[in-house]
Amino acid sequence: MSVNSTNPENSNPVVSLSRYSHLLELMVSGHSLHTLLEELCYLIQDRQPGCIASVLLLSEDGLRLTHGAAPSLPQAYIDGINGVEIGHGVGSCGTAAFNKELVIVEDIDNHPFWGPYKELAAIGNLKACWSQPIFGANNQVLGTFAMYYNEPRKPSVNDIVLILEASRLARFGIEHSRAQTQGKLSTLIAQNLPMGMITTDENFLISGVNPAFTQITGFSAKDVIGKKPQALVNTPGQLEQFKEIIAKLPPSRSWTSEIQGKRKNQETFTAEICFSAIHDQHGKMIKSVALISDISERKRSEETIHYLANYDVLTNLPNRNLFYEHMTWAIEKGSHNNALTFSVVILDLDYFKEVNDNHGHDAGDELLIQAANRLKNCLDEGDTIARLGGDEFGIIISDADNTEKLANISQRCLSQLSKPFKLRQVKECRISGSLGIARFPEDGATIAQLMKAADQALYAAKAAGRNTCKHFTQAMQQEAVNQALMHQDLRHAVERNELELHYQPIMDINSDTDTATITQLEALVRWNHPERGLVRPDIFIPLAEKTGIIREIGDWVRNAALQQIKHFEQQGLNLCIAVNLSTAEFFDNNLADHILEQVQQAGVHPSKLTIEITESLFIQNQADTRDFLQRLKNNQIKIALDDFGTGFSSLSYLSAFPVDKLKIDKSFIDDMTRDSRKQALVDSIINLGHSLDMQVIAEGIEEQEQLAALKNKGCDSIQGYYLSRPLGTLAIEHFVLEHQAKINSSSDT
Ligand code: C2E
Ligand code: CA
Ligand code: CA
Repeated sequence: MSVNSTNPENSNPVVSLSRYSHLLELMVSGHSLHTLLEELCYLIQDRQPGCIASVLLLSEDGLRLTHGAAPSLPQAYIDGINGVEIGHGVGSCGTAAFNKELVIVEDIDNHPFWGPYKELAAIGNLKACWSQPIFGANNQVLGTFAMYYNEPRKPSVNDIVLILEASRLARFGIEHSRAQTQGKLSTLIAQNLPMGMITTDENFLISGVNPAFTQITGFSAKDVIGKKPQALVNTPGQLEQFKEIIAKLPPSRSWTSEIQGKRKNQETFTAEICFSAIHDQHGKMIKSVALISDISERKRSEETIHYLANYDVLTNLPNRNLFYEHMTWAIEKGSHNNALTFSVVILDLDYFKEVNDNHGHDAGDELLIQAANRLKNCLDEGDTIARLGGDEFGIIISDADNTEKLANISQRCLSQLSKPFKLRQVKECRISGSLGIARFPEDGATIAQLMKAADQALYAAKAAGRNTCKHFTQAMQQEAVNQALMHQDLRHAVERNELELHYQPIMDINSDTDTATITQLEALVRWNHPERGLVRPDIFIPLAEKTGIIREIGDWVRNAALQQIKHFEQQGLNLCIAVNLSTAEFFDNNLADHILEQVQQAGVHPSKLTIEITESLFIQNQADTRDFLQRLKNNQIKIALDDFGTGFSSLSYLSAFPVDKLKIDKSFIDDMTRDSRKQALVDSIINLGHSLDMQVIAEGIEEQEQLAALKNKGCDSIQGYYLSRPLGTLAIEHFVLEHQAKINSSSDT
């Protein structure tokens, strides 16, 4: 028979108050649930002699009953029941839990619910069992409370009241114990939480903190409990603000913010803080909980990332990225207000590469840092300077119409850069700067246009001899267009057969002038452009170097020169030809092999070919350069060092590389006869060359006096307009033959 459960909440306790309070005491003093439930069983057994009390607990999944307490049941029975799956007809308890109602089995032996469990019941000699579900909140079943008897028995009304009361006490015990576990769990969590936790009371005074809070802020619980959470704010106003926000927080919502906290040692830190509020049933905030994590480290990494993305680590100046960002703002402002014009300056250090190559990258870096510092001081407030890369700086100067300001700043930059620099390894290092200036909006309306214009102006400044500043002009634009068009045409110059070689004779002078022979020529390339006519190498070689076309041109020049040598041989003329090698051709390690192959294919003796290099080649990878030159020399190709005296620290290189001939630059020859210092220089160059076993050639001889002076100084050969301008193939052949005829006739006489 089953009886519907009545509402147990309002019934008077049947259990004696003293036992009841003992039970409560046990609960409060934190005894285990098992002890509590056992005590409950004893309490009921005391109250009802002959009864055996038992509590089973429903598993979390709500499917099985597990042992709770049954101090007077045999262990074998307990074990047999433990874990039984609930269901209708599963004994008294399984059925009670399943059907959520009181189950009264008066006679176990004859009741269908016990059919499968009779043997088990026999172990304990159990004959009757009444079982009441233990209900928790929302009528949720927590377990069962059962009373067994060793004889069949029917409950009285009092028995029913007792069993209901017992199940109510069991509920209390179970829930209390669970709450305690929960409480312990939350305390445990709070204690071990990897972030700081603060609880405040309704007045927003701190009521508790966890160890992580102490770790982050340095404040112990004693320091802060009962006080305002000052550690979290910079200003008292902020605290009020927090309080207001938190008080308005709806239940189960939180509010996260970033704060600048202050540690006990006064150090500030950046923290992320998440507040949530706990309200009473009237919606009044009674508590708030704040979780704090110290994000200073993360902030610092974010700042580092931002710094790396926007600043140049070496000079500490903004980088190109930030420079463009500034320019974007300036363009935006200027587009809205016509008065807000500005100038973009690209500044390039002159001779930086040489410092870097000669003194090493450390010296180069040091120079950049010092230059950056000097430049920074040249600007007015509000103007921006950035390092765009390498030795290039960008400057944004507000108010482009203020020409005086612009002129002042550029002049300051130039004069600052031309003052000597003192580096650790270099006592005195001299460089200069070139500036290109473009104005917004006249010269460009976008970053790309402005940068291009400033770049063209810079190019013009460099071309004008450096250490100067140039404003962008339309002519530069025209020149740039011109260069672009020329580049297009130059790409096809070789295949369209538009190149030709002219030859300038070089005359030996260390014997009697009248009998001086011409044994070598320098091949000089020209570009026969269909519209422009004969274009000089000064114009197109730099372009070819910049664009890489120089390699193709170099190949062509060598082949043409080698063919010319062969042609002269066929004419019975024994002439060596020198070709110019651009440093820009020196791009791979196979160049020497490639040249040797060209010589071999032409079937010319290698000693008939001279390769003219400039000192800039020495500044490249020195080991590679030495290997390259050595390979040519080993194969009897001659090396001439061109434009000697115009490069960098010439002397130190001279002895280190296998060079056969030295060509004194025209600039030394020009004023030689009028300038005694120049004469002395030429003197020492000739002596130096001879002491290193080199043939010395003077370039750019235009006057008889120059020739005489050089002959006097023991110079070996001369080249220049005085003897002949560069000539086309027919003309040079004619010239050489005529010269020989002259010598022959003079020796005949
Ligand atoms: P460079 O190698 O120093 O050649 C000498 C230049 O000086 C030639 O100019 C020549 O015409 C000029 N010159 C010779 N004697 C005199 C003189 O008495 N007075 C004056 N005022 N000038 C004289 P060009 O032919 O215009 O060549 C200019 C430069 O172009 C050459 O200077 C060389 O650096 C380069 N170049 C010429 N041909 C080639 C080439 O095939 N390959 C490469 N890579 N560069 C070349
Ligand atoms: Ca040359
Ligand atoms: Ca030269």
